[in-house]
Amino acid sequence: MTTEQLHRVVIVGGGAGGLELATRLGAGLGRAGRAEITLIDASLTHTWKPLLHEVAAGTLNAPEGQLSYLVHARAHHFQFRLGRVTRLDRATRTVHTDATRDDTGAEFVPARSFSYDTLIIAVGSVANDFGIPGVMEHCHFLDRREQADRFQQHLLRTFYTAVTQTAPVHPGQLGIAIAGGGATGVELAAELHHSAQELIGYLFAGINIDRHIKITIIDAANRILPGLPEKLSAQVAEELRRLGIDILTGERIAQARADGFLTAGGRLIPAETLVWAAGIKAPDFLAQIDGLDCNRSNQLSVLPTLQTTRDKDIFVFGDCAECPLADGSGMVPPRAQAAHQQASMLVKSMRCKLEGRPLPVYRYVDYGSLINMSRYSTVGSLMGNLARYWSPRLFVEGFFARLVYLSLYKMHLLALHGVVNVTLTTLANLLTRRTRPRLKLH
Ligand SMILES: Cc1cc2nc3c(=O)[nH]c(=O)nc-3n(C[C@H](O)[C@H](O)[C@H](O)COP(=O)(O)OP(=O)(O)OC[C@H]3O[C@@H](n4cnc5c(N)ncnc54)[C@H](O)[C@@H]3O)c2cc1C
Repeated sequence: MTTEQLHRVVIVGGGAGGLELATRLGAGLGRAGRAEITLIDASLTHTWKPLLHEVAAGTLNAPEGQLSYLVHARAHHFQFRLGRVTRLDRATRTVHTDATRDDTGAEFVPARSFSYDTLIIAVGSVANDFGIPGVMEHCHFLDRREQADRFQQHLLRTFYTAVTQTAPVHPGQLGIAIAGGGATGVELAAELHHSAQELIGYLFAGINIDRHIKITIIDAANRILPGLPEKLSAQVAEELRRLGIDILTGERIAQARADGFLTAGGRLIPAETLVWAAGIKAPDFLAQIDGLDCNRSNQLSVLPTLQTTRDKDIFVFGDCAECPLADGSGMVPPRAQAAHQQASMLVKSMRCKLEGRPLPVYRYVDYGSLINMSRYSTVGSLMGNLARYWSPRLFVEGFFARLVYLSLYKMHLLALHGVVNVTLTTLANLLTRRTRPRLKLH
């Protein structure tokens, strides 16, 4: 087939789901010359999002965990195009990207248009500030690698200032308040406690972790991890309190200020470092995207085949999709394991579509949830085949839980690089671990 005749699959968003899909479609249909696979992303590099709290805390050293789309695309027979998609024209089957600019605002890639036969949208989610005053101005977010890097730099500078100033540390100066007691907020709090301890060990002998550094998690629900079993939530809360992390539940944040969060009850939680991890929504541009159905969180509505309700040539998956659960009990949760499963199904769907066969339907399999509290502990509940041998839900902790937690990232790496490369990289990391610093200090 000539290039003009090839079926053009355009994937927008190379995150946990989109990059796995582009890799596998490239290695299959792209390599066999059966379709032209193009991935468009707003960034030049990919970082698996569940690692961002480690990047923010400085415990994952940059550029570790970062992958160049250009290099990866060439090795896996797909094209990569840099650009932020902002518009869709279904009549002409075209997506449009805005011009890409550098930090100074200078344009280095012009606005462009890309034609498709099949479009797959996987642009993930961003933090939802729910319109609360001050959040955008004063809070840090963990939606993108740059934000996590910026937070890490901020943390380091805040500590440097505290130990080099002549005045004593004032209340809230080393306070870190995290809005949101979900998995992201909880894991970040534990990771920050660990990195604060390491920082003090390296440089800051004058700082006392218990007296000067206060980490607080605030959540409007009556317990942290409200979406997970109560037993798990209680276990995690106990561990966090043991570390000296404050948990404020049943408290609604009314305002974010330079000196802390103000709750609806008028209470100020003093902290000069604020993080917003209290809910997500799909990117705003999806709300207006050429007549496709979407919900209040901007997620595009899809059928169990992951096709949009209004256009069968457009598929949506991952965090930005509103996908019904097979039993009708709700929607597929926005999680990396869902994006991974959906990417695997869409590899089959594209083959079926090209061959004119019926498309498979997506069934979410919940393998459970694991909460990793840095090096302190990992706890969770497993479901699916493994747990069925014992009970419908198996509570795990310690080394075994940590292994299962790490396996989710390994599955992502396996989908991207294959068994041989992942095994070799894992071995190399184990061998060089001793000589690497445990914290990013620059
Ligand atoms: C700190 C943290 C910890 C987490 N931990 C876990 C965990 O332990 N387990 C779990 O299951 N889930 C976890 N999650 C959730 C998980 O990361 C997401 O569910 C998952 O990444 C969703 O995958 P996705 O492919 O839909 O989107 P993403 O992985 O977010 O990827 C979206 C991609 O789209 C690109 N993009 C966005 N907008 C545009 C645009 N307009 N044009 C072009 N490109 C665009 C982005 O650059 C990005 O590459 C965590 C999330 C965070 C933030």
